[in-house]
Amino acid sequence: MTVLCPVCQTPITTTEDGGVCRKGHRFDRARSGYMHLLPANRKHAKNPGDDKLMVDARRKFLDKGYYRPLADTVSRLASEWLANLPHQTPCVLDAGCGEGYYTTLLYDALCQRGMEPDILGVDISKLALDKAAKRQKAIFYVVASVFHLPAPDACCDLLCSLFSPYCSEEYQRVIRPGGAMLLVIPGENHLWELKQAIYERPYKNQVKPFALEGFTLLDHMQVHDIIYLAEHNDIENLFKMTPYYYKTSEQDQARLLGRGELTTQIEFEVLLYRK
Ligand SMILES: [Zn+2]
Repeated sequence: MTVLCPVCQTPITTTEDGGVCRKGHRFDRARSGYMHLLPANRKHAKNPGDDKLMVDARRKFLDKGYYRPLADTVSRLASEWLANLPHQTPCVLDAGCGEGYYTTLLYDALCQRGMEPDILGVDISKLALDKAAKRQKAIFYVVASVFHLPAPDACCDLLCSLFSPYCSEEYQRVIRPGGAMLLVIPGENHLWELKQAIYERPYKNQVKPFALEGFTLLDHMQVHDIIYLAEHNDIENLFKMTPYYYKTSEQDQARLLGRGELTTQIEFEVLLYRK
């Protein structure tokens, strides 16, 4: 998939070790393979996005397969939809791809169906993309904001947004007419028992209505499972992945982290739309 120069918006020609736009702006690839396309004036911190602690925790937790049922559902819905295209080279943009766990499994699923997917993973955290780029070299990862995707208008057949901010205008811009969008949001009961272990009076997640302007809902699947964490490290890693980690007092944290095991529900709403 073509990526655009963050300075002048012209297409970047990429090579093994970098890229150059039509006006001569040059970009290096990191050793792991991702490319940095976030202009300095859109960087609000030295290393924006998820920090090392969060990225490491998420990678360790996801690699143990606890969220595999979600990954499988996402891959199945996406590949079934893309299988209807008249060509075998779908363009997919993963907006807010993090450390590439779901992106890589989707890539594998599409290849297994005989497709040759062209996948662009975008995330604002270079620490996350460093992990992602090491997982699968055939996926191109770029550091950028999902609010300013470095991609041309109407470039993708499918845009995936898993637990990322929803940017209506920007997603509308990059999805081609008739293309699809796959969203994943936490369900009402997601991590309920984890929250019960932290808070005296936990609240259920509020799930917004699924209708989105400019899109038609094609399919909705709920992924619900119960996971058993028998290792203290897994509980701690799961907790660090959540927004609760930064909002919880040390005392409340200690109550959770003192536990040797935890059984909790996981619940996700997987939504497939057509533009
Ligand atoms: Zn340029």
